[in-house]
Order: sequence, then C-alpha cells, then structure tokens
Amino acid sequence: MPTYEFQCKKCNKTFTVMLALAEHEKSVPACPKCKSRKVQQKPAGFFAVSAKKS
Ligand SMILES: [Zn+2]
Repeated sequence: MPTYEFQCKKCNKTFTVMLALAEHEKSVPACPKCKSRKVQQKPAGFFAVSAKKS
C-alpha cells in the first residue's frame, strides 16, 4: 500500500498515512494531533531526498 506524507496547516504537524488509491481520492486524512482536516499533501519523494545521508 502506498504511503502519503501530509502536513497540517493548522498545527504544522507532518504525518504519514497509508492509503489505498481509491480511498485517497475520496477522503482526506485528519491530523493526528489536532484532528483538523486542513492538511496539505507533500510531494512524493521529498522525504527520501531529505533523509539522504552524506
Ligand atoms: Zn494539526
């Protein structure tokens, strides 16, 4: 199952959600911290790049 990274616009918390594609299209996950649904999906691949070690 693919994972999606989201950032809450309300409290700035970033979180990862595992969603089936069909589910992803019809529902927006709520922030685990403040339960807000004002979340923004982060671009795929961003996490992998920032986690790179030199
Ligand atoms: Zn939040």
